[in-house]
Amino acid sequence: MTPQAFSTVYGPVRSWRYGRSLGIDPIGTVSTCSFNCVYCQLGCIEHLTPTRSVYVSTARIVDDLRAVDREGVDIVTLSGSGEPTLALNVGEILQAVRDRIGRPSLVLTNGTLLGDAAVIQDLAAADRVAVKLDAWTDGALRRINRPVAGLTAADLWAGICRFRQAYPGQFELQTMVLRPWSAQQQADYIAKLQHLQPTVVYLNTPSRPKPRERSLAGRGNEGGDRTPAQHFHCVDGETLAALAETLTTATQIPVRWKSP
Ligand code: SF4
Repeated sequence: MTPQAFSTVYGPVRSWRYGRSLGIDPIGTVSTCSFNCVYCQLGCIEHLTPTRSVYVSTARIVDDLRAVDREGVDIVTLSGSGEPTLALNVGEILQAVRDRIGRPSLVLTNGTLLGDAAVIQDLAAADRVAVKLDAWTDGALRRINRPVAGLTAADLWAGICRFRQAYPGQFELQTMVLRPWSAQQQADYIAKLQHLQPTVVYLNTPSRPKPRERSLAGRGNEGGDRTPAQHFHCVDGETLAALAETLTTATQIPVRWKSP
């Protein structure tokens, strides 16, 4: 991919969760994440790392924001080509979004760095943070999210809890359901919701094939991506609806889901 072909700003794309979402990509041309999820829409992660760095300069993002027409933008979402909290300048980027676009900001994160005091401080500038929670045992974490070496489910959970206590904005959870959950999984998840008290929970299931190669189109949810892909067997809408009802009944927390 040539640098000229790459823009750090994309969309707005229509999101079932957030409305018209303008995407900001603080990671750049090489997909970079502390997870390599089996269902990742970016394809196989090219750079698996837990290390924070400046991947795209704030000046470059500010430049790309100049061309944006803020009309028709409901929210600005930091996500893009990997895990946004790996960007050392994520706090600066959030500030630039606030100054230039004047729309609520949202960070989609896999949660792996949320126990880091600097990340907690950086994300305080975000209006909303949506944290991925797909797995809470080491086995499921390795099977679904395939994290960097050394990261345990207990570490991940401790970091999320620490962040939850400190974060002043709207805290949300998002969970990918790959197969129907056992009664034990449901009970475990309910206990986690009761502890975290997110504003809302989003249940999802892989509804698009996973590209076999790096796919820039995977940053958003529109665009004719013709990359060869791996198809997933996902759970059906009825299963998600029943799970959502069970979770809401037990916790009184709104649970939204989208039919695959
Ligand atoms: S956390 Fe997100 S970007 Fe990272 S591998 Fe998983 S789905 Fe892809």
